[in-house]
Amino acid sequence: MTKAYLLDGKAIAEETLGRVARETAALRARGVTPGLATVLVGEDPASQSYVASKGKAARACGFHSVQHTLPTTTDELDLLALVESLNADPTIHGILVQLPLPKTMNAARVLELIDPRKDVDGFHPVNVGLLSVGEMDRAIVPCTPAGSMIMLDKACAALGRTLAGAEAVVIGRSNIVGKPMAQLLLQRHCTVTIAHSRTRDLAAVARRADVLVAAVGQPEMVRGDWVKPGAIVIDVGINRVAGEGLDASGKPKTRLVGDVAYAEAAEVAGAITPVPGGVGRMTVAMLMANTLEAARRAAPAGE
Ligand code: NDP
Repeated sequence: MTKAYLLDGKAIAEETLGRVARETAALRARGVTPGLATVLVGEDPASQSYVASKGKAARACGFHSVQHTLPTTTDELDLLALVESLNADPTIHGILVQLPLPKTMNAARVLELIDPRKDVDGFHPVNVGLLSVGEMDRAIVPCTPAGSMIMLDKACAALGRTLAGAEAVVIGRSNIVGKPMAQLLLQRHCTVTIAHSRTRDLAAVARRADVLVAAVGQPEMVRGDWVKPGAIVIDVGINRVAGEGLDASGKPKTRLVGDVAYAEAAEVAGAITPVPGGVGRMTVAMLMANTLEAARRAAPAGE
């Protein structure tokens, strides 16, 4: 059996970041520097590391990058005031409030206060609506599904396929991955099924897919025999599971796996994303692409 074409997230993300850096240089030459503000509330180590990597990528692209770090005890009204000041700041084109917020805060209220034109995560209801009605010149698309589409296009180019008319199955219906992914596939003329935890005979539904997207959060749930031979498999899942042995500090080792049993699926699929080194690499790259696009849209006409 031929092995699947490997979609290298690191290489595709670097290509995207390279394009963003080149186009940023051109925009800066016209007097506009894209600005990204990240807002971190609290001291969650994973969130700290995500925010740091976003700031690093922003600087590498030539953006103006600012980070606001607030204590867990911050009053929600103070966070709302910060968002309003960033909305009003003409040097900032993208505002990213790192989730999760402390449980004492109403995350929806905070996210909905972000100016939709600066909502580079694409989570604001205005952007959800614009994506849904296909106003792509104005919508900002959530980063993970946007990055998944780029990988899908790479797979189609490598395999000589077209998305129009393809059967696409998205497992997962979250607002940040599953639903926007389904919208993007629909816009590309796929016949889209959205599966979730109540779907009957999920394996049989998955086996219909020419394009199978797993965004579930269940380690290696999608087995090799769920994959239609030749299908393009996009594994969005990032799950930490027990590894083998102990690390240098004597703690049990862990490793990252996707929602797809990679080794089995790669025997059957036409193309597949690995975990790690797959879709995850694209998410930060698309955040930069969204910030650049927001800056372009904000630039006065003729600049
Ligand atoms: P959510 O928990 O918000 O959504 C998971 C979805 O999967 C839900 O719709 C749920 O169904 C469905 N689901 C859960 N269990 C099953 C099951 N046994 N069978 C069928 N469907 C199931 O997760 P996210 O969408 O936020 O994230 C999904 C995965 O993607 C996670 O592993 C996450 O870490 C990863 N992720 C990766 C990113 C990246 O950069 N690569 C970015 C964001 C997420 P129901 O609605 O019925 O409950």
